[in-house]
Amino acid sequence: PGAQLPFDPEKKTIVVLGSGWGATSLLKTLDTTDYNVVVVSPKNYFLFTPLLPSVAVGTLSPRSILQPTRYLTRHKTRQVSVIEAEAKEVDPVKKTVTFSDNSEIKGQVSSTTIGYDYLVYAVGAETQTFGIPGVKEHSCFMKELSDAERMQRQFMDCVETAAFPGQTQEEIDRLLHMVVVGGGPTGIELSGELHDFLEDDLKNWYPELAGKIRITLVEALPSVLPMFSKQLIDYTESTFKKSKIEILTKTMVKEVKEQSVMLQMPDKNIVEVPCGMVIWAAGNVGRQITRDLMAKLPTTQTNRRGITVDDHLRMAGSNDSIFAIGDCTASSYAPTAQVASQQGNYLARQFAQFAKKDAIEARLATLKTAPQTEETKNEAASLMKQLEKLKLRPFHYSHQGSLAYIGSDKAIADLPIFNGNFASGGVATYLFWRSAYLSTLFSLRNRTLVATDWLKCKLFGRDVSRE
Ligand code: FAD
Ligand code: NAD
Repeated sequence: PGAQLPFDPEKKTIVVLGSGWGATSLLKTLDTTDYNVVVVSPKNYFLFTPLLPSVAVGTLSPRSILQPTRYLTRHKTRQVSVIEAEAKEVDPVKKTVTFSDNSEIKGQVSSTTIGYDYLVYAVGAETQTFGIPGVKEHSCFMKELSDAERMQRQFMDCVETAAFPGQTQEEIDRLLHMVVVGGGPTGIELSGELHDFLEDDLKNWYPELAGKIRITLVEALPSVLPMFSKQLIDYTESTFKKSKIEILTKTMVKEVKEQSVMLQMPDKNIVEVPCGMVIWAAGNVGRQITRDLMAKLPTTQTNRRGITVDDHLRMAGSNDSIFAIGDCTASSYAPTAQVASQQGNYLARQFAQFAKKDAIEARLATLKTAPQTEETKNEAASLMKQLEKLKLRPFHYSHQGSLAYIGSDKAIADLPIFNGNFASGGVATYLFWRSAYLSTLFSLRNRTLVATDWLKCKLFGRDVSRE
């Protein structure tokens, strides 16, 4: 495959697995002058996950929060290979990755293996189901773009089915009961967005149904949003109360059926609750490929939560050739976009240092074999000094704060300011939330698309047509 890649045998090869927060942030900063760079991901785009719940209710159009990976890599000094494929196996001993084209259309070659000098492992995680019966079959996840699109279709199907002539009251109540599982930020934001949709749009388009829609948020722990400060948790709970979103804490989903959920209530009784749709936002679990890779390094990779890395993000046991970042790792950091993007950025700077170090060492090796003159001795001494100065600093995470949208044009924010914490919630925080996400979007194109969608939504409401 080397012949088809922008391959220079003199340069080291970095293979990047993934095109999410970690990988994209790495690619943004990476100086490709000194490396052959190959990106392998089953999605040929970056997905801006913080705005995914807005897609699920039609506030934003799906394409507005995607950025094709090639839009980023085409500006690089040397050509970067972007391959739409799913990595199937990593061999940390032979230093190879095997990947396959999993899309509908396949050519004569649809699977291949390539070698790497450095592997950036940034494949993220998948949705945790804890093996609870019926979750995979009967609920909607909120991780990929397809999940948000599926949720929108299914939600509108529930509404249209409830509007079918002659539907019994009991059936209408069931169809219009939305159960969100998980009181983490994903579940909270999604419940808030759903509420907005009901309040702003369904009242107009389905006035006969609007008052009948119920949202229930189920959380196993004693409170929602454990990562936020107490006052913001209280604020969210009171906002939800006003918005008529019922929060059930200390309640665990035990099974998801086609038309109901089985809940274990705080008193341990099991109750069957009829519903039209279940949205499952119960956290992350490692991917199969990650578990397979860890199994190849059984003495060092023993953490069930994910890949163990050192403070330079090197995968333990990989002989400094695999770097793991983002949600696939088990570290003291939360699995957030903030962490993954800072890690990607850090790694890009590390690779620049490695390239400098390699160049100095190569020059020193040449000087060693050259005739020893005053000039070569001086150059070698100066290079040695430069080498000593090249410090490889450990990764340091700088927390910029936590933000979440809670519906009704309100958001909450915990911001680290002056060595303390500034907690705020309300409409002003919502405007801050909007501007923060708008500026975090990677390109002007996406910023324009999202801003235009917000404006369209304000002017014309959300689209209730069902594809
Ligand atoms: P991802 O961004 O998930 O990227 C993984 C990449 O790997 C993807 O491109 C995927 O296609 C690719 N991949 C998968 N399998 C393979 C394979 N076998 N081979 C090659 N590539 C593969 N965090 C925040 O900080 N703030 C927020 O507001 C926020 N909001 C969120 C909202 C939602 C709805 C969700 C789901 C998450 C949110 N997060 C937020 C968390 C954040 O999205 C993750 O922490 C972040 O995406 C992790 O980055 P990553 O690069 O590790 O993984
Ligand atoms: P999470 O892990 O934060 O929350 C999942 C919740 O589901 C947990 O509180 C858990 O107790 C609950 N749960 C699990 N199984 C359950 C069951 N059977 N019944 C009832 N409740 C159950 O997951 P998330 O919200 O998807 O977030 C994942 C990561 O992404 C986190 O690190 C989060 O901080 C980040 N994120 C951040 C934002 C933001 O900053 N605005 C938004 C979304 C996600």
